[in-house]
Amino acid sequence: MSGALSHPIRGELDTDLRIIDADAELRRLHIRAGGQGDDPLAVGALANLARQCLRFRSRLSRQVRVNDGDRILALWADFEPSDVGVRLTITSWQPVAELEHGRPLGALNSPTSGASNGSPRYEGILLQLDSALIIRGHSALVRAWAEDCPLGQAFTAAFVVEDEGEAPTMPLLSAVAERAAFTDKPVTARQSRRAYMLSGQPLWDAQRSFAGYSCTLRQYGDAPNLVGSGGTWALSGGNFGRELAPVLRQPVGRIIANAETIAAKMHGALREGYADYAGDIANAARHLQSLIDDMTDLEAVESASFRPADDPIDLADVARRVAGLLGVKASDHHIRLIAPDDGVAAPAIGEFRRVLQIVLNLVGNAIRYSPDGSSVLMQVERVGDTAVLRVIDQGGGIAEENRERIFAKFERLGRHDDGGSGLGLYISRRIATALKGQLDVEYSGPEGSCFRLTLPARP
Ligand code: ADP
Repeated sequence: MSGALSHPIRGELDTDLRIIDADAELRRLHIRAGGQGDDPLAVGALANLARQCLRFRSRLSRQVRVNDGDRILALWADFEPSDVGVRLTITSWQPVAELEHGRPLGALNSPTSGASNGSPRYEGILLQLDSALIIRGHSALVRAWAEDCPLGQAFTAAFVVEDEGEAPTMPLLSAVAERAAFTDKPVTARQSRRAYMLSGQPLWDAQRSFAGYSCTLRQYGDAPNLVGSGGTWALSGGNFGRELAPVLRQPVGRIIANAETIAAKMHGALREGYADYAGDIANAARHLQSLIDDMTDLEAVESASFRPADDPIDLADVARRVAGLLGVKASDHHIRLIAPDDGVAAPAIGEFRRVLQIVLNLVGNAIRYSPDGSSVLMQVERVGDTAVLRVIDQGGGIAEENRERIFAKFERLGRHDDGGSGLGLYISRRIATALKGQLDVEYSGPEGSCFRLTLPARP
């Protein structure tokens, strides 16, 4: 059984979520989730939504993922308050394994879902239409996308069906008129003018009458496009920092907080190894968090309107602050951080926060890529009308042919460890250039590397 169902799966629950009546598939799901005949619905994700429906006495339509033995299923489920409790109707049933192979129906729009190849994938919004083509549900996680799919409105009131060119295989409206499946038809949201590609699969009820469509909306044009190409992913449109990053930050922050609580054994003793696993989870989530920060920065520095401020700053002061901020990280590795002495100044022009970001990145790298017990030196100098800051480490150095390459987006010179993203130097150089300065590797060899940041000097 997969995809759009030939007939919906139904269940009637009482106010304690006990099954009063249910189709065999739902009963089997309940039993496989550990439930017995008279128990409250044991399928956690469905039970939570049923509880919400009861609490707010309102109808809910959602895509949910449920564990079913060794499979994960993506279901489209509808919950409606009834006289005795909640009426549950499942209209789409899709093993996730099929989803991960890119089948349109039932694809998820969670940017973290489907990350089986290690890179985030944006998979589209699932949209449920009833037989009158009224929008009955959607899986949009981001508010702006959800606003494009107003519940209770006719599909054609919410979207404009675009002209499909001269010889479309099956134009959208005629496909719908014939209750046929269709793929990748261009539509535009009336609310935001956002462009989408729509695919749909007709739904049939038990009497074989048309019951609506289960659709997938995929964005292109001005929307975040996290679809990978060649192992990397591209951002188009400038919505990541504004729309997606805040949505991602919250759950990632929660994962870190909970994993740290477990790792610290704050709730008592744990089985051997579990505290370490929790520590690994916290580290992985922290990596994800810094990736979200990097992606937000990447989008900002690549935007045509990126103009850092021209403030009076002191590069020596920036270096001293960085030494303070990274002191603990350095001492964890017994690395000595040497900043310019207090009396030394290197007046320059640039946005303080952005210059601090560059120097944090350079010194962070110097610590990360140098052996324990070594030293990292920050030096400032005035050369003509420029102020120069050098970050000198005693690491293994960078081969000559890689000294430019490391400034490319996502370039890590084959490293996969230690949580980097390969964006730091790319972003730093973009900022330096926007500040009318430069960032490069001045020299590097087996005894270490010297990164040089140049900014306009202040008279
Ligand atoms: P990340 O550190 O996240 O990988 P960066 O853009 O900051 O991303 O650096 C890109 C790559 O350049 C690093 O992965 C590393 O291979 C190399 N690199 C950067 N700084 C140094 C350094 N001080 N010494 C040796 N290699 C470095």
